[in-house]
Amino acid sequence: MDAIRVKGLSVYYRTPLGQVKVLDSVDATFEEGKTVGVVGESGSGKSTLGFAITRLLPPTGITKGSIRYYDTELLSLPAKKMREVRGTGIFMIMQDPFSSLNPVKRIKDQLMEALLVKYERRKETLDPKSGEKEILKRLSDVKLPDPDLVMLKYPHQLSGGQIQRIVIAMGLLLEPKVMIADEPTSALDVSIQAQVIALMKELQQNYGMTLIFVTHDLAVASAVSDKVLILYAGRTMEFGDVGETIKQPLHPYTQGLLKSFPSGSYKEGRLFSLKGMPPSFFDMPAGCRFNPRCPYAFDRCFKEEPGVYGVGDRLVRCFLYDKSNKS
Ligand code: SF4
Repeated sequence: MDAIRVKGLSVYYRTPLGQVKVLDSVDATFEEGKTVGVVGESGSGKSTLGFAITRLLPPTGITKGSIRYYDTELLSLPAKKMREVRGTGIFMIMQDPFSSLNPVKRIKDQLMEALLVKYERRKETLDPKSGEKEILKRLSDVKLPDPDLVMLKYPHQLSGGQIQRIVIAMGLLLEPKVMIADEPTSALDVSIQAQVIALMKELQQNYGMTLIFVTHDLAVASAVSDKVLILYAGRTMEFGDVGETIKQPLHPYTQGLLKSFPSGSYKEGRLFSLKGMPPSFFDMPAGCRFNPRCPYAFDRCFKEEPGVYGVGDRLVRCFLYDKSNKS
């Protein structure tokens, strides 16, 4: 069963220079209890996808298409109903963990408020003593040392790694069906990143959540995910099983991303770097959006934009997989 199903999803932003399409007709499924890594460079639309699903786009954002959360169409859901889905249905961990917490409230009070939301939505009464126990249990699930002491502190008295664990614990208290983690380690010290990634994977398995893990790093995605969705310039470039993708990346962009990290089947001694930069949304190349950077580009790639082709159970947007290609 799919927890989230995205179909023909496009996101536009109104800017002083005109309207730009930052996500273009994206289709993707997020199976219940599984992890999908959403991977792409900066400006690929990966974070926008998370914000669109939670309907937390800035007011300049316009969304078209369909986002289904189980049987509920989120894009037409009244704002009040959407607030009910957010948190206890879909919880989003932001890139900057500090932005999720109130700087002038103690951690304990903030976690208690989150817990209260869950109890109110279930129309149950929260007993403060058992609430505190529940909070301590979640803090120990996220392996936070000295949870009794930490509960009494304010956010500014804690490190980025501690805060990120607290935000994850807050998510666990709400018991969401879907957790979206938007680059959850990018603001953290390198030494803490691996711990938080391992923790996310462990919690996803223990809690049976559907996890959407947004990252620019294919190596990180491969460590936590069952499937990967590769985005480039707002378009899906490849979608499929993570093991198969790492073993045999189909899209030239995925191949480039994979060569950029020194592990796996692409280990060749010297670190490869993808040439060029992603295009500007105001100046998209004609044809395939990846053509200025693609080592395999041929005539057709500069005239037409490729559709999505099936290769086994995987999907790839590249003419190299078009069986009718005669060019
Ligand atoms: Fe490269 Fe052409 Fe495939 Fe685009 S369609 S990725 S330019 S080969």
